[in-house]
Amino acid sequence: MLDEAEIRMHARRFMAGLDLSLIAQDLSVYTKKVQAKLRKEELEPGESGYTLTKRDGSSVIIVNERERLERQRFSICHEVAHIVLELKSDHRDTPSWSYAKRDENEIACDIFAAELLMPLDAFKRDADQEPPSFQLVERLRGQYVVSFAACASRLAAVSDYPCAFVTMNARVIRHASRSKALRDLRAWIVPKSPIPQGSVAQRLVRDEEWSGEDDAVPQDVWFQDWPKGYDLIELAKHYPSYEETFSLLWFEQDSGPDEPVNNFAGVPAEQDDGGLRELDGHLSFSKRR
Ligand SMILES: [Zn+2]
Repeated sequence: MLDEAEIRMHARRFMAGLDLSLIAQDLSVYTKKVQAKLRKEELEPGESGYTLTKRDGSSVIIVNERERLERQRFSICHEVAHIVLELKSDHRDTPSWSYAKRDENEIACDIFAAELLMPLDAFKRDADQEPPSFQLVERLRGQYVVSFAACASRLAAVSDYPCAFVTMNARVIRHASRSKALRDLRAWIVPKSPIPQGSVAQRLVRDEEWSGEDDAVPQDVWFQDWPKGYDLIELAKHYPSYEETFSLLWFEQDSGPDEPVNNFAGVPAEQDDGGLRELDGHLSFSKRR
């Protein structure tokens, strides 16, 4: 099984030398490279796409035209990944964003797809133009034509700002992607712990609201063993029908600690929740266990 760093390297090798200037409108630069034609059809609800490969090695990628454009684009790149990585499909009926339930091959293809949709160098350059914010996520979403979750997660991974993207289900934290700056401060979000009291995410789940933002969430709400006296900004989205909640957390300039926080629990081991090891631009992962 490929680990995450290897998948990202595969994707970057696949993209090397391609003209990526038009990928926001047209992904044929990728489909052509794998000798695939694209077909849009009305598939069953929940079915995003699949690939038919012919004996001559050419393929047809079929995506569900009933789904949102950004979802279709993700499906196209996901299917390209199946072809490039030669991984079999297991498209059982799991929501695309429920990382934890997905098969390893499917997670690998999702990681590959995110690389294709948000090429590292260009995305990082655009993300570093300004501090994280709702407007920045929306602008990048529009520019790269990707989902909120894909965009915010990529932003947290590549940002130069202290920033995290947290994926939750109805009750617990599934995964947190932290920027290097936040990891360097030793801000640690405990996986599998309950959605914290006092967070925007928790309020949305409780009130069944879809979206909320608060620019003064005490940081010890989110970070383990964190000193009091600092506030962070939290932007959260909640999708009741999928029981999925996402939060983007970041510091206002100069509002966080300057030095790494001494964490009495020690420096935690990198988390591995068995789900998607997050969309990190830094190739520093340990092997998937
Ligand atoms: Zn797949």
